[in-house]
Amino acid sequence: MDKPFYEDGLAFECQRCSACCRFDPGYVFLSENDIIKLVRHLKISREVFLEKFCKTVDIGGFKRISIIEKSNNDCWFWDDNGCKVYEARPLQCRSYPFWFSLLADKSNWDGEEQHCPGVNKGRKHSKEEIESWLAWRRREPYSQTE
Ligand code: SF4
Ligand code: SF4
Repeated sequence: MDKPFYEDGLAFECQRCSACCRFDPGYVFLSENDIIKLVRHLKISREVFLEKFCKTVDIGGFKRISIIEKSNNDCWFWDDNGCKVYEARPLQCRSYPFWFSLLADKSNWDGEEQHCPGVNKGRKHSKEEIESWLAWRRREPYSQTE
């Protein structure tokens, strides 16, 4: 089998610009475990959480649950002090930028520099570390609804 392009690891260090939580429209898709952790963290019921803070997104034939955004496109849970649910933040946020889509090939990875100034900067993350994020996502897929 061919070695992945990240065989020798990839540099990434968050520059704390907040761009991945703010400014542009996007989705923060949730797994079942994310929902459970956020509900516990916010001390509300699952029904209230889904009703108040989530939307359903149609992805060509199936639906995922995403956190809603404010009218300025900031994530609903962003405020001036940062992420209001940081300890319970979803796997999508925790694992960024080690996502299947960005690790599919080197051009996808390098292209992400346009969106995140931490990509290809700072600390090197080993192949094992990167693949442990991918394994985590495999174990914890996005929640799907009817
Ligand atoms: S866009 Fe990148 S550098 Fe900016 S806050 Fe997000 S992870 Fe950090
Ligand atoms: S949940 Fe928190 S870390 Fe994730 S996008 Fe929203 S503000 Fe950012």
